[in-house]
Amino acid sequence: MTGRLAVIGLGPGDVRYLTPEADAELAAAQSLYGYGPYLDRAPARASQSRHASDNREEAARAAAALREAAAGARVAVVSGGDPGVFAMASAVCEEIESGPDSWRSLDVVVVPGVTAMLAVAAKIGAPLGHDFCALSLSDNLKPWEVIERRLDAAAGAGFVIALYNPISRSRPWQFGAAIDRLRRHLPASTPVVFGRAVGRGDEHVDVVTLDRAGATEADMATLVIVGSPATRVIRREGRAPLVYTPRTSVEVSA
Ligand code: SAH
Repeated sequence: MTGRLAVIGLGPGDVRYLTPEADAELAAAQSLYGYGPYLDRAPARASQSRHASDNREEAARAAAALREAAAGARVAVVSGGDPGVFAMASAVCEEIESGPDSWRSLDVVVVPGVTAMLAVAAKIGAPLGHDFCALSLSDNLKPWEVIERRLDAAAGAGFVIALYNPISRSRPWQFGAAIDRLRRHLPASTPVVFGRAVGRGDEHVDVVTLDRAGATEADMATLVIVGSPATRVIRREGRAPLVYTPRTSVEVSA
């Protein structure tokens, strides 16, 4: 029997964001692997085994899931948001590339999910309506100098920038340093969107200008979108503002 490994995106939170495809793959799995809080989001089903592991144990988790699939089981590995965005799909591919040959003949599927930047953008309007890029601010897997270079290049080229992993207990200063870096390139009035726990009960979305954006507004569950010089804010009486980036391109100063 050939095993199957599905790497499944759960979306940003509430089960409403789970796609029917993801739900069907979860239902068909005999065994689920993932970070504990993400596993808790998968609807409970009898006769499924669940293997919760710590957030930082991605490689070991991917290898354990592959071993079980290679033994013939239907296995699911879950990620929050989309599994291909700073998440488990790459970890699984890394293990397949360096692992035993038998892992290459497994049936592997990646099931997409709504990633945090799309969920946050949708809550506030259309900040990603023109060219944009996404960066993880975590310097656990790449040097901080690389992050600075990418921030310079992205802001200098006029991209809207989605920042994943802005801050954590072990990375307290990185978000403030990134904002300082972006201030070198972007006007003080640039809109900055903080989307926290979007799609969950404690969701909170806030818009400030770049000169007022501070580290205290972000935590591990926050996705930050830094506008480009073209990004606009429509103020509305009695309603949240709409933040959007027009579809027309603008000149970028070098
Ligand atoms: N695979 C995930 C991202 C994992 S990196 C995805 O596609 O969304 C973890 C980071 O994602 C967090 O630090 C935060 O920046 C962001 N994030 C994940 N879920 C979020 C949510 N519900 N609301 C806001 N940001 C979220």
